[in-house]
Amino acid sequence: MTDFDLDAYNERARNGPCFICSMLAGEPGYEHRIVLDDGVHVAFLDRYPTLPGKLLVAPRAHVEDTVSGFTEDQYLALQLVVHRVATALAATVPTERLYLLSLGSMQGNAHVHWHIAALPPGTPYEQQQFHALMTEGAGLLPDDPGRDERLAADLRTRLSHPCRHDQPGTDHGLRPTRPVRPHPAARHLPHRRPPRCAARWQRSGPRDRPSGRRDRPLTRPGVVRLRPECGGS
Ligand SMILES: [Zn+2]
Repeated sequence: MTDFDLDAYNERARNGPCFICSMLAGEPGYEHRIVLDDGVHVAFLDRYPTLPGKLLVAPRAHVEDTVSGFTEDQYLALQLVVHRVATALAATVPTERLYLLSLGSMQGNAHVHWHIAALPPGTPYEQQQFHALMTEGAGLLPDDPGRDERLAADLRTRLSHPCRHDQPGTDHGLRPTRPVRPHPAARHLPHRRPPRCAARWQRSGPRDRPSGRRDRPLTRPGVVRLRPECGGS
């Protein structure tokens, strides 16, 4: 466990600049390991992880209201990124259950962000859930820049390829990972089956238009479409 100065952290969160906007502006002291940046959203490793590979996903724009700060399309686009990044994380580190949550405060860390954390298999029940996420509970992981850089590199590789973000992954000194597959019960949900490919998150653009139809977009900017060659439907 790494010592964590909670008072200093709270002082910085409540009285300092927005840490996400500062990170994106390249301000010294706000560097993070970014693993995805699609121009609208950004995903990066938590600087204060309590679990290996813990990530944050946020819109690049400084939005403070978790729900009403987005249109439905914008909100769904953000959640698609959360799904994609979480799937990549579960394929990268041993995972018994994924935790997804948006917290923050209007008095500090107001920029909307989603936490994505992978609970290691075998974690005792009383050490799961909030206990596993709170620095006051689980404590920070030992500082290990090499581990974090390897994790970030693996996540970047997965997330840069439209079809491979969920493939079984490398061992980061933890345990071999397994492929991530939708639970069979998911077929009963009133939605179409989950897409096989992260190309769903490709923003629409000239590539998405069939030849001879370049005069107008098929979808609005930012709306995602599947590419057939990646197995989507
Ligand atoms: Zn911000």
